[in-house]
Amino acid sequence: MRQLKALFLSFLVFLASCATVVDPLTGRRTFTLLPPEEEIAIGQKFLPEAITEMEGVYPDEEVQSYVRELGNKIARVTPRKLPYEFFVVNSSQVNAFALPGGKIIVTRGLILTLEKESELAAVLAHELAHVNARHHAKMLEKTLGLSLLLQIGALIIGGENTTERVLLQLASIGATLLALKFSRDQEREADALGLRFMVEAGYDPWGMVDTFKRFKAMEKDYPPEWLSTHPLPETRIREVTEMIKKMDLPPNLIKDSPRFHAVKEKLVKTKPSYEAYEEGKKLYAKGRKDEALKKFHEAIKLFDRNQAAMAYIASILLEKDRPEEALSWAEKVTRIDPYLLWGWYLKGVALFKLGRYEESIAALEEAKKRVETYAGIYYYLGRNYEALGQIEKAIENYRKALKLARGNEPWLPDLKRRLARYGIFFY
Ligand SMILES: [Zn+2]
Repeated sequence: MRQLKALFLSFLVFLASCATVVDPLTGRRTFTLLPPEEEIAIGQKFLPEAITEMEGVYPDEEVQSYVRELGNKIARVTPRKLPYEFFVVNSSQVNAFALPGGKIIVTRGLILTLEKESELAAVLAHELAHVNARHHAKMLEKTLGLSLLLQIGALIIGGENTTERVLLQLASIGATLLALKFSRDQEREADALGLRFMVEAGYDPWGMVDTFKRFKAMEKDYPPEWLSTHPLPETRIREVTEMIKKMDLPPNLIKDSPRFHAVKEKLVKTKPSYEAYEEGKKLYAKGRKDEALKKFHEAIKLFDRNQAAMAYIASILLEKDRPEEALSWAEKVTRIDPYLLWGWYLKGVALFKLGRYEESIAALEEAKKRVETYAGIYYYLGRNYEALGQIEKAIENYRKALKLARGNEPWLPDLKRRLARYGIFFY
């Protein structure tokens, strides 16, 4: 009897974990195994990681609010009611992508490439279509398996202290999400839905054809990164053209707006700053740190809110053992861009080097909220706890750092020595 009861209870739990979603194409309700709140939580969780990967949020509220308003205008006509959010990021790549649950990211490089508002509307509508057709959830179910996905979803919602095993799973979900590729059928579906959303929101759907043609023309010399996840054969442009011809288009659809051009003009003005930043990054990668430092300062002179360049300056100053100055740069980064991991992380490292352990722990905990799987956070948490005499907590963090380490971290030999001192050896 008790067993039956348990079975029945677990069946109830199973039912409760299922939810229905409206199929955006048919309007019918269908069952899904990944409940929307978990899909949303997963997208929310990996948003700062995606933004960090794309070099931070573009630091201009006028640019952000323009894309936010345009995105929300289109999102309003879509069937899924989700906490949609739109971001422009600093990357010079020509790219756009969505996270599960309605977070949509477009790059500075994309806007610089486009020529009118309806082209940007097309990209946003296409990404909104992926979210509405639940393509992310479906692909994640397929690549990760539903049980792992549900486990992680529940864990993210629960917000418990994560074990080493869960951290590794989170890292693999992050990597999967940031490189997610959809099938050709899903792309076709996103094009079709995207066109529908554009028209319903009042935008000229020919903007999509113009965008695709623009990308196609760039393919030979500077292939947009967007093409690596969105193959653009001639057939796709033809298909979209055919779809539009079959549509019953209302008059006065929006093609362009002065605001689009005002925003683009702003990005054109700060472009030299990002070019100096890119050069700095290349020099930094070659180990030419002093020249890199100069370039990053130049980038900030050209655009005094370039937080990506500031983060590099903080990092180089830490390497030069100048933690006081590094701290002030890192704090500036956190004020300009609360999403970017580097501001919080470098602030934590600088505070540790200054012997301000409690404050360092607080900053590193903030860093952890951004990217929970970044190994360095745990190494420095460990160092802080060790300095405070809390050995058990130190070891726990060192273990996590070791699990997540990629092998090239400068602190790795020190970490192993410290663990060995406590009788913990790894082979
Ligand atoms: Zn797509």
